[in-house]
Amino acid sequence: PIYRPAVGRFAPSPTGALHLGSLTTAIASYCHIKSLNGAWSLRIEDTDLQRCSTQFSDQILIDLENLGLYWDGDIWYQSERIAIYNELLYEQLLPYVYGCRCSRKALADYEIYPRFCLPDPKTVAYESHKLSPQQRQEDLTDKKVRIQLPNQSMGFIDGIQGIQWSNPQQSLGDVVLRRADGTINYFLAASIDDGLQGITHVMRGLDILPLTSAQISIMRYLDLPAVEHWYHLPLVENHCGQKLSKQNLATPIDTATLSKCQNLIQKALTLLKQPAVDLDKPEVMLQQAVEQWQLDSLQHQSVLGKV
Ligand code: GLU
Repeated sequence: PIYRPAVGRFAPSPTGALHLGSLTTAIASYCHIKSLNGAWSLRIEDTDLQRCSTQFSDQILIDLENLGLYWDGDIWYQSERIAIYNELLYEQLLPYVYGCRCSRKALADYEIYPRFCLPDPKTVAYESHKLSPQQRQEDLTDKKVRIQLPNQSMGFIDGIQGIQWSNPQQSLGDVVLRRADGTINYFLAASIDDGLQGITHVMRGLDILPLTSAQISIMRYLDLPAVEHWYHLPLVENHCGQKLSKQNLATPIDTATLSKCQNLIQKALTLLKQPAVDLDKPEVMLQQAVEQWQLDSLQHQSVLGKV
C-alpha cells in the first residue's frame, strides 16, 4: 500500500453556532489525529446557501481559534467548490446517476426512494442513457440527480463502534446528489472532498454512521482514495435524551474569555472520558489532552453523556 500521511478533518455546516456536541466532536478529532502526528484540516460545509451563513462560519473560526483548535493548511469552503463537484458529477458519475422529478408529496409514504425515475432498459426513458454526455448533462438540468447505490452488503471497521455491515441500497436507497435548483448535497460534496483533501481519518457523530456506506460507494465510483479509518463518536444528549443539535436549539458555546474556554475544554474532555488536564492556555491544555488521548473508554458507546 502507498503510505499516506494521516489527515483528519472537522467539517461543520455553518447553519448555526457550535454547541457542546459539535465542540466535543472537534476536540476528539483534533486530539486523535494529533496523537498520530497527523494534520487536522477544516472544511466549511456550506453548499446549502439557504441554511448556511458566513456569520456562523466566521464565528466558528473565532471559537476554534479562541479554544486553541488551530487547523492545518487552508480552510476549504464548499460553496467555492461547486464547479468541481459538477465537473466530477458529469465526468465520472454519469453512468450511475439519473434525473428524478418526483415531488416530496409523491414520496411522502416511502422511506427509501422506490426508483420511480430509474430508467428501465426496456423503455424509451432508458434511451436517454444513450445520449451524448453533453445531452445527458442537459437532460439532468432542473431535475434532482440521484445515484444508483449498490444493493449489496458492505463492511467497514469503525474504530469506536466496531465492525459495521450495511447495504446502502436497502438502508438509504438512491440518494440525491444534487437538488433540482442545483444545490449540491452533502453526499456528493463530502465524498469528493474527503477524497481530494486526502482525508485518512474521519471522526464524527454517531448520527452520521448510517450514511457511511453510501459515502464509501460514491468515493469508489469516483475512484478517490478511500478513507482508511472511520470513527463515529457517541453523542451528547440534552436532558430530554435528544442529540444536542441546532434543530433542538442547543446552547451556543461562548468562548469570549479565557476561563470560559478552559471550562469548555474540560467539559468536552470529561464527556470524552479523558483524563483531566491542568488549567492553562487552551493550546497547552489541548497539548496535554493529545498526549493523554485514548479511545478505549468510548468503545461501543452510543451516548457520551447528558448536559
Ligand atoms: N457537516 C456535517 C455536520 O455538521 C458533518 C459531516 C461530517 O463530519 O462528515 O453535521
